[in-house]
Amino acid sequence: MFKSTQIVIEEAIQSLGYPEETYELLKEPMRMFTVRIPVRMDDGNIKIFTGYRSQHNDAVGPTKGGVRFHPEVNEKEVKALSMWMSLKCGITDLPYGGGKGGIICDPREMSFRELEGLSRGYVRAISQVVGPTKDIPAPDVFTNSQIMAWMMDEYSRIREFDSPGFITGKPVVLGGSHGRETATASGVTICIEEAARKRGIQLEGAHVVIQGFGNAGSFLAKFMHESGAKIVGISDAQGAIYNSDGLDIEYLLDRRDSFGTVTNLFKNTITNEELLEKECDILVPAAITNQITMQNAKNIKASIVVEAANGPTTLEATKILTKRGVLLVPDVLASSGGVTVSYFEWVQNNQGYYWTEEEVATKMRKVIVDAFDKVHSASQKHQVDMRLAAYIVGVRRMAEAARFRGWV
Ligand code: NAD
Repeated sequence: MFKSTQIVIEEAIQSLGYPEETYELLKEPMRMFTVRIPVRMDDGNIKIFTGYRSQHNDAVGPTKGGVRFHPEVNEKEVKALSMWMSLKCGITDLPYGGGKGGIICDPREMSFRELEGLSRGYVRAISQVVGPTKDIPAPDVFTNSQIMAWMMDEYSRIREFDSPGFITGKPVVLGGSHGRETATASGVTICIEEAARKRGIQLEGAHVVIQGFGNAGSFLAKFMHESGAKIVGISDAQGAIYNSDGLDIEYLLDRRDSFGTVTNLFKNTITNEELLEKECDILVPAAITNQITMQNAKNIKASIVVEAANGPTTLEATKILTKRGVLLVPDVLASSGGVTVSYFEWVQNNQGYYWTEEEVATKMRKVIVDAFDKVHSASQKHQVDMRLAAYIVGVRRMAEAARFRGWV
C-alpha cells in the first residue's frame, strides 16, 4: 500500500514536470508520532497501548484525517493513509493536507469505559501536535461519533476552552454536521452518477454489485436502490448473495448487524471472489484492500468500477481494467465525501453558524462533481487512467503550495 502510493505519486510528479526534490518531500509524511497510552482496564490492571499520528504535508493548510482503532494498525499503513488524505484534499480543493492516526487495539473486546480511557489518553498523548489550526482528527475504522465526543471533551479540558473545531464526526448536538454519517456513501453515489453519465448508462435499472455492507456499502445500497438501480449482489466478511432479478434491499438493511453482516441469514451464498466476477454494469468494492488483482481483473464483467473502499484494486489490476476499457473511479476520488463533509463541519464550528441537511448536500454535490470533472479531464489531457489522473490533480496543489512557500 505504502510502496504503490509512492510509485503513483512519483509518476504524477514526473507527469507534471516538478523537480526530484518535490517527490523527495512528498514521498514520506513530514511528521510521524508514536505514542504510548496507559489505560486502567476493568480488571484493575494497566495496559499500555501504542498509537500513531502521521502528518503528511501541511503546505496547503492544517492536516486532516481519521483515527483508526484496529488490531492490525501499523506505522506504514498509517503513513500511507495520511498520504491518501493529502490526495483526497487536493482533489476536492479543501484547504488541508493529509493526516491519519491509529491505535493498535481491538475495540470489539473493550468495554465502553476502557474505550473512553483509551480515547482520552490518546488525545493527552498527541495534544501538543494537534488542534483546530494544526491537525484535525475524525472517525475511521471502528471509531464513531461517541469516540469523537470524548476526544473533543478531553482536548477542550486541556486547552481550557470549548474546541469543537479540534475534531470532526461529532454528534450533531456537539457541533457535528448534518450528513456526516452518510457522507462517504453520498460521495460514492455522486461519482457513480457521473461515471454512468460518461458511459451513457441509465442508472434506472442498471445492475449494481456492492462488496461490503458496512457504513459505506449499506448506505450506498440504500441510495442506489432509491435512485432506481437494481442491486443484484452484496457481500460481507462471511460471504455474498447474488440474484440477477435484484435483492430485497430494505430487508437486508433492516437485518444487517452493527458490523455490517447479513449474509449469514441466507443458505445459497457464494464467495466474495465469485461475487466480484458476476454479471453487472457497476461494481463497487466497499470492504477491504486488494480485492481486484491481476488474477481476477480479466474476469470482471462491470464496465464501471467505483472504489468506495481504500485500496481495493492493485496497480497491476488497474492497468488490466483500463486496457479492457473499464472506467475505474479511484478511491482517492470516490471516497472523498467523508472528508468533504468533515471540512463543512469544521467550517461550521469555526463560524458558529450551522447549515441544514439540504445545504450540506448541495454544497457537497458541487465539490464532488467538480472533483470528478477535474480528474476525468486530467485523465483525457494526459492520456492516463483515472487513478494516475487523480494523483496528478491531488499532488499539484501540494507541490504548488510547497513551491510558493519556498520549501522546494
Ligand atoms: P465497516 O467496518 O462499516 O464495514 C466493512 C464491511 O466489509 C462489512 O460488511 C464487513 O463484513 C465487510 N468485510 C470485512 N472483511 C471482509 C472480507 N475479508 N471480505 C469481504 N467483506 C469484508 O467499514 P466501512 O466504514 O463501510 O468501510 C469500508 C471501506 O470503505 C474501507 O476500505 C474504508 O477504509 C473505506 N472508507 C470508508 C469511509 C467511511 O466513512 N465509512 C470513508 C472512506 C473510505
